[in-house]
Amino acid sequence: MDAKPYRAWLRCIEGCVDELPLEGFVYRCPRCDALLDVAHDVDALRGRSAAEWKALFDVRYKRTQWPYGSGVWGKKEWVAPGVDNDNVVSLDEGGTNLFWAERYGKTLELTELWIKMCGNSHTGSFKDLGMTVLVSVVNEMIKRAMPVRAVICASTGDTSASLAAYCAVAGIPAAVLLPRGKISTAQLVQPLANGARVLALDTDFDGCMAIVQQLSREPGIYLANSMNPLRLEGQKTISIEIAQQFDWEVPDWIIIPGGNLGNVSALAAGFTMMLELGLINKKPRIAVGQVAAANPLYRSFQRGFEGGLTPVQAEATQATAIQIGNPVSYPRAVRALRAYDGVVEQATENELADAAARADLAGLFTDPHTGVALAVLEKLVARRVIGRDDRVVVISTASGLKFTEFKVGYHERMLPGISAGYANRPIELPAVYEDVRRAVLGG
Ligand SMILES: *Cc1c(COP(=O)(O)O)cnc(C)c1O
Ligand SMILES: [Zn+2]
Repeated sequence: MDAKPYRAWLRCIEGCVDELPLEGFVYRCPRCDALLDVAHDVDALRGRSAAEWKALFDVRYKRTQWPYGSGVWGKKEWVAPGVDNDNVVSLDEGGTNLFWAERYGKTLELTELWIKMCGNSHTGSFKDLGMTVLVSVVNEMIKRAMPVRAVICASTGDTSASLAAYCAVAGIPAAVLLPRGKISTAQLVQPLANGARVLALDTDFDGCMAIVQQLSREPGIYLANSMNPLRLEGQKTISIEIAQQFDWEVPDWIIIPGGNLGNVSALAAGFTMMLELGLINKKPRIAVGQVAAANPLYRSFQRGFEGGLTPVQAEATQATAIQIGNPVSYPRAVRALRAYDGVVEQATENELADAAARADLAGLFTDPHTGVALAVLEKLVARRVIGRDDRVVVISTASGLKFTEFKVGYHERMLPGISAGYANRPIELPAVYEDVRRAVLGG
């Protein structure tokens, strides 16, 4: 199928500039400095009926015809139609399991709790969904002889791992700026292994971000942070994939952990596009979970978003990927929450760790960010904001295997400020049959 009749471009979210090409070094509105959105020629997309889009997406889903087997590129016409298929940089992302967490749901008296395992991905977090789009557009730029010297990002870990992997696949130089000593070993070692230039700075994420923004003004330096709306185009396919997996039925609630807040707006954008093109006719409600240690959106929500964002100093948290005090996509998140009757709730370190442990006891292996979403789910169910019969989807954003320090620390009761009520310790025994027998039988 030819994607050429479809078109996407950048426009200012305040509406003052339109029709900027996707291929370029522009991340903010040249006139007013606001964020940019990717806009699509929705009229051209209406050239196919809703039923035709569903059939096309279904026929491609998890097959091998390049690049459409990817959960992101299977929706290419809705994502980045102008990228030549030969320039797509894909690791077959998306297509992750959406499973009914029946036992864990029952502990909350919820009948329809589903977990969308977006972190079961090439680099172990859902950042791959957006990074494939960004790096593909950069690759397209390089193939069109636009000079790209390096792709850079500030990261709390997952973004840099994803950027480094996709750049390595395409042979594009990458440089990542990380807060020294604030990310997990797994997250540090991924960009190192993929050959990125890794700069560990004596600051936090917000400090790295400030330097990266300055660096991105150098010629030939391309900015990969989620301020760049190309990332959101890929992340938006999460919503489309969830609807597809439910045979185009829309759940009542989606819960997602939020830090820089690009992903909540991407989620909304996916639903909005499906509504516009008639694939669905109902909106879900959206809940964002923040950690109490870094909760500027939660505080703003408490004020009814009056007065806008007041940045906070992000304190230490196990949920390192959302330890962000000055979220760049705040305006996008407010827009999304207003459109989707959204709520914001927060979780303490103890709450996120115990929610993760409770879910693990029903067979999951939960990273701390998904733990935040689960803790928030538990609170919203207890407050009856979420009804017992609502169909709820929790977005699991990373693999627990990337956060072994968190998992081990919990079960060893070594995490600061976390009481670890569900800690499970190995029973050390001599190799004596009777002792072992007694231990197995619980005597
Ligand atoms: C990036 C990330 C988030 C938060 O996404 P934002 O768009 O920054 O709000 C949540 N969980 C994990 C594991 C992440 O890597
Ligand atoms: Zn503008």
